[in-house]
Amino acid sequence: MGLIVQKFGGTSVADADRIRNVARIITETYRQGHSVVAVLSAQGDTTDDLIAKAQEINPRGSRREMDMLLSTGEQISCALCAMAIESLGFPVVSLTGWQAGISTNKAYSDARIKRINTERIKSELDRNTIVIVTGFQGLNKFDDITTLGRGGSDTSAVALAASLEADLCQIYTDVEGVYTADPRYIKGAKKLEEITYDEMLELASLGAQVLHNRSVEMAKKYRVNLEVLSSFSNAPGTKVKEVVKKMEKTHVVGVAKDKNVARLALVELEDRPGIAYKVFSLLAKAHINVDIILQSIGRGETKDISFTVKRNDLDEARRILEEHKESIGFDHIDFSSNLAKVSIVGAGMIDNPGVASQMFEALYGARINIQMISTSEIKVSVLLNEEDADKAVQVIHSSFFEE
Ligand code: ADP
Ligand code: ASP
Ligand code: MG
Repeated sequence: MGLIVQKFGGTSVADADRIRNVARIITETYRQGHSVVAVLSAQGDTTDDLIAKAQEINPRGSRREMDMLLSTGEQISCALCAMAIESLGFPVVSLTGWQAGISTNKAYSDARIKRINTERIKSELDRNTIVIVTGFQGLNKFDDITTLGRGGSDTSAVALAASLEADLCQIYTDVEGVYTADPRYIKGAKKLEEITYDEMLELASLGAQVLHNRSVEMAKKYRVNLEVLSSFSNAPGTKVKEVVKKMEKTHVVGVAKDKNVARLALVELEDRPGIAYKVFSLLAKAHINVDIILQSIGRGETKDISFTVKRNDLDEARRILEEHKESIGFDHIDFSSNLAKVSIVGAGMIDNPGVASQMFEALYGARINIQMISTSEIKVSVLLNEEDADKAVQVIHSSFFEE
């Protein structure tokens, strides 16, 4: 007997039959004697549809009003699921983010959870009631609704599991677990029985959307017992934990693709101390995250610096740098957004120099050109043309995971 937090994603609650299916999973867990807190996403494409509605009215609507709008999707699925559970004859209550006591910082559309006052949830659980909570939302210090960023319901679930000290947090989705690559696109992708928090965090941050990266960060911090599994089958899922038993010969656990990337290059920069500081501090001040950075060797008086940012930061980054063109001192900015970042992830790569070269060999075999490379202890990423990305993932995946 324990407390289980179960999260159901958009596809899992997409229509009436699926909501009934989710109600069945929740009540089955409850019947086994567990307390259940279920966190739901909006149904199917609801969040995208709401964004499209806003675009129709005002493409520059404020983030506050966007959050007011987007948070409604989760409210619908939760109320419907509670009604499905009522019809099965179980005690249930659905709660919005604020009713569930979820406080966030003030950052509309990308808020961080600061604290959860679990009083209400606990009193409902004490009365043996099943609690359904809206994912993706909280309340900030102005008592305004905030949302946690796309895919943020995973983070709501893990945060609730951490605050309630749940025995288990199950993330139910539309695939059977975490795979060596996106199983929807990559032939031969294999389900992992288990994966470490660090590797999962890296995979999620590098584009594997199966878990919101902040949910993994939080699971690691609070040692939440996390499991990813399918709401459509009874197959065992993937456990995300601190230490796993390594069965594989390979050091690579997965391949990820991220299309949300753009590259800028400052061409013919003055080659003197302080330039990199100037460029990147301007971007940091505007909260623009820079990822891969490459500086050329100086030629005569000048050098080039190339770097990547998220696609939706490209225009702002260009605007800021152009505005400071004189004081930074460069000739022009070159940029591109038809790019993708493809990465391999695995702990202990640093001790195995053959891993990066095997990745590059696979790309060479497919005649795919690499534009930039970055490595860390746990990953190797390459930047390439977007049209090459799917092929790149497939050939890299085959190289590492097919006998
Ligand atoms: P949900 O709506 O349940 O939150 P998401 O669409 O956010 O579901 O995440 C699940 C999707 O993540 C899968 O359908 C799959 O296409 C994608 N995905 C990407 N990389 C991986 C991976 N390595 N393992 C499993 N799924 C992945
Ligand atoms: N409904 C939100 C989204 O589509 C949150 C989530 O599904 O996790 O991004
Ligand atoms: Mg998701």
